[in-house]
Amino acid sequence: MNTNELTGHTALVTGAAGGIGAAVARVLAEAGVRVAAVDRDARQLAELAGKLGADGLEVHTRAVDVSDEAQVEAAVDWAEHTLGPLHYLVNGAGVLRLGSAITLPTEEWLTTFAVNTTGVFLVSRAVGARMAVRGRGAIVTVASNAAGTPRTKMSAYAASKAASEMFTKCLGLELAGAGVRCNVVAPGSTDTPMLRSMWAGPSGEAATIAGDQSAYKVGIPLGKVASPTDIAKAVFYLLSDQASHITMHTLTVDGGATLG
Ligand code: NAD
Repeated sequence: MNTNELTGHTALVTGAAGGIGAAVARVLAEAGVRVAAVDRDARQLAELAGKLGADGLEVHTRAVDVSDEAQVEAAVDWAEHTLGPLHYLVNGAGVLRLGSAITLPTEEWLTTFAVNTTGVFLVSRAVGARMAVRGRGAIVTVASNAAGTPRTKMSAYAASKAASEMFTKCLGLELAGAGVRCNVVAPGSTDTPMLRSMWAGPSGEAATIAGDQSAYKVGIPLGKVASPTDIAKAVFYLLSDQASHITMHTLTVDGGATLG
C-alpha cells in the first residue's frame, strides 16, 4: 500500500469504537491521516484513543449518536473545526438485531434502520455537502454481504444494509461531477464484538475465537473469518488514489462466501 498520498489528510470515522471502525481509524492514523473518531460509546472511544496513543498515534474523539440529526451536524462542524476540511468519511457505525421476520418487534426494525440507514444518510449528507463545494473527497460506507444474500433472522439488518448501499451509490452519482467518490465495502463474517454477540451461547457468554465457530467458517472458501484489519485495508484502498477511477462500487470482502 502506498500510504504517503494520504498523509496530512483528514477523515471522519463513525462507529470508531467498534471492531471494524477502530481498525479503520488505526490504518488511517498509521498512514498519517488526521482522524476524527466518533461513536455513541464514549468509554470504548477513550479506550481506542489510549491504545492508539500508546503506539504514538493520535485520534480526536467525540461521543455521537449517528441517528440524531442535531448531534451529527454538530459532530461534523466539530470535526472540521478540529482537523480542517474533511477529505474522507467512513460510515462504520452499525447495529445487528436478530429476529424472525414474522415476529420481529417494530422497535427492533426501527432501531436498525435508524442507525444503519438513516445514520449513513445523515452523516453522508452533512459531509458530502461540504465535499461537493470543495470539489474533492471520498466516502466509504461499510454495508454487509447480507445486503445481497437473504439470511434467516436478519431481515431488518440485511434490508437496512441494502438501503444504505443503494443510498451511497445514488450519492456517488450525484457527487461524481464534483469529484467526490462514494463506494461501499461489504464485509462477510468479521471477528468483532458484533459477530461475537452471535456466537454467544445459551448462557450469554461469548465464545472465544479459539472456540468452535466452525459454522461461520463453513462456506468461506478462504477458510477463515475476516479480521477487522482485512476490512480496514479494503476501506483504505477505496479512499486512496489507488481507487481514483472507482465510484458507486461495492467491494465485497468475505473470503468468497457469496461466491461472486
Ligand atoms: P461493532 O459492534 O464492533 O461496532 C459497531 C460500532 O457502532 C460500535 O462501536 C457501536 O457503539 C457503534 N454504534 C452503534 N450504534 C451507533 C449510533 N447510533 N451512533 C454511533 N455509533 C453507533 O461491530 P463491527 O462488526 O465492527 O461493525 C462495523 C460495521 O461493519 C457495521 O456497520 C456492521 O454492520 C458492519 N458489518 C460487520 C460484520 C461482522 O461480521 N462483524 C459483517 C458485515 C458488516
